[in-house]
This record gives sequence, C-alpha cells and structure tokens, in this order.
Amino acid sequence: MSRIGVPEKQKEKQKPVASWLDVDYFTEERRAIKALTVILRTAGCRWRTCTMCGYWQESAEVTQADILAQLEHALTKSPQEEFILKIFTSGSFLDDHELSSETRKRIAQMVQARREIKKLIVETRPEFVSPTTIEDLQVVERLELAIGLETADDFIRSRFIIKGFSFDEYKKAAEIAKDYGALVKTYLLLKPPFVAEKKAIEDVIKSAQRVAQYSSTISLNLCTVQKQTPLEALWRRRYYRPPWLWSAVDAIMGIASQKLVVISDPVGAGHERGPHNCGTCDPRIIAAIRSFNKTQNVQVLEALNEVECTCRNVWQMLLSSDDFLFGSTTA
Ligand code: SF4
Ligand SMILES: [Zn+2]
Repeated sequence: MSRIGVPEKQKEKQKPVASWLDVDYFTEERRAIKALTVILRTAGCRWRTCTMCGYWQESAEVTQADILAQLEHALTKSPQEEFILKIFTSGSFLDDHELSSETRKRIAQMVQARREIKKLIVETRPEFVSPTTIEDLQVVERLELAIGLETADDFIRSRFIIKGFSFDEYKKAAEIAKDYGALVKTYLLLKPPFVAEKKAIEDVIKSAQRVAQYSSTISLNLCTVQKQTPLEALWRRRYYRPPWLWSAVDAIMGIASQKLVVISDPVGAGHERGPHNCGTCDPRIIAAIRSFNKTQNVQVLEALNEVECTCRNVWQMLLSSDDFLFGSTTA
C-alpha cells in the first residue's frame, strides 16, 4: 500500500505506459514542432492477431477513470509553447471497448481547453471510424486519425500481417474522416514477414502512391521484432531479418519523391531486433533519418551516398539477388 492508502498496483494503472516529449513535423504548416506522445494503458487491441505486434502485452484491466488519470499524469509534461499531442493506446482510440464515448469526449474537452495543443493525433483501426466516434471529438479543432494500413496490397496485409481489414475498409474510414474535417496519417510497414528486401521497398513506395489521396502524412514504420510474436519465432529461426537502414533510406526517398510528407521514427534502429546495417554506419543513417523527419529535406538523405561503408555493397547485392531469385517482373 502507498502512503495515502491506494494499492501500488492501482496507482500503476493511473500512469500511462509511457509518455515523452520530442519533435515532430507539423504537416499543415510545413515546420517542426514539439510533440508530446502518450501511450495509454487500456483493455488493449481487440484484434491482437497481427504477426509483428506484441502491444497486447501492455493491456490491463483499467477503468475509464484510470485512463483519464493517465492522461492527466502525462499532460504534466506539456511544454509551455505550442505542441502536437499524440495519444496512442496500443490499440484503437475509437474502440468503445478501450475508451468509452464519454471518456473520448472528456479527453476532447481537455485538449480543447489547452490552447497550446495545435493538433490531436489518435490511432485507430478503420472499422471503428464512424460519424458517431468522430463526433465524440468534434470540439477538437485539428484532429488526425492514424491508421495502421501497413500496405495497400491486400494479399500482403491479409496473409503475411494478418491485419484483418481490407484496403477498401481503410478507404471508407479515410473518407468518413475527411467528411468530418479530420486528417489521416497512414502507417506503412517496411518489410513485413515473408517479403524480400527489394519487394518490401517497392511495396511501401507503391502503397504510398495509392494512399496519397487519403493521407496528409505517411508514417513509415521500419519493422522491429517484438517479443512473444509470430515474427519473433520466425526471426529466432532465421527466417526473418529486419529491414536494412539502406532500405529505409531508399523507401523514404521513394515516397518523398512523390511530394508526400513522410516521417519514419527509427525505433530500435541499429539493434538486431530493429532495422540495422553493419553496425558501423548505423548511427549516421539514424541521425540523417531523424533530421529528415524534422525538415523533409531530402538532401540529408542524399548526402548518405557519400558514406563509404562496405555493407552498402552487400545490401545492393542482396537487392539484385532478389531480382534474380524471385524475378523482377512479378506483380
Ligand atoms: S498492429 Fe494494431 S491492429 Fe494489429 S494487433 Fe497490434 S495493435 Fe492490434
Ligand atoms: Zn555499414
């Protein structure tokens, strides 16, 4: 028991899984801005089947009051100046099973009351996007829904990621969001399981093209090997290697060349479970990606051409062997 008589475990439920302050790109104003990210602990994602996802491990039995207390706790880190508030639940913010309509409305009011918050970003699966759930947030001036589409290719999404929704469902959700004046950020996943390196790069570039009309921003997630996931089982048996950082750079440049805003947080980069190169050149590439995120200036990525690391040749050979082994003209 704590000093004031609240069980310690209960106190933990009133703290978010994590919260941190960093810098993000403010697409509407084409500039960098501070961002407060909050991961709320909720009942967790209802789907729980995606092959690379271990977020269900962060779920718990919490009350709606606990969730509001978690957010209050995280907001104590708010900067004095304007910022973007990103609220993630390791699931879907618009799922009533995680957050009730009443809780969403209370959160919307908390956001509205803080004038420094320039935009609220929340994550959700598309099946929870409806006029009713978006209306819960209508008092928020700028709302962005982040949807983990992963790829525009229904085959890869349904067979390799087991995502459980189609591209059409994503499009429908994006259209509802648009009708209500909300923006959409689309997550694409670089290198799901069973997809070769070169195909993976091509897939996210092609996917970005297909989602461009629905998305204000593309968030390119570089696949990491999370614990207790089917992907981890593959990786342990050496059937999977996370993407090369060279691939990430290639993919980001390919997406940016379509005049799209693309950000990519290199989570776990440089580690064996995350996107990595040889170990020597990784820090320089990670720094360039981080810098690109804040500026959208492709020159910082182009400058990596000057990095003379032998692993680049290995990566290039790998891509050309993908062509040779799988055929370059397959659909
Ligand atoms: S990736 Fe998203 S939709 Fe899939 S199981 Fe994880 S939280 Fe749920
Ligand atoms: Zn290297």
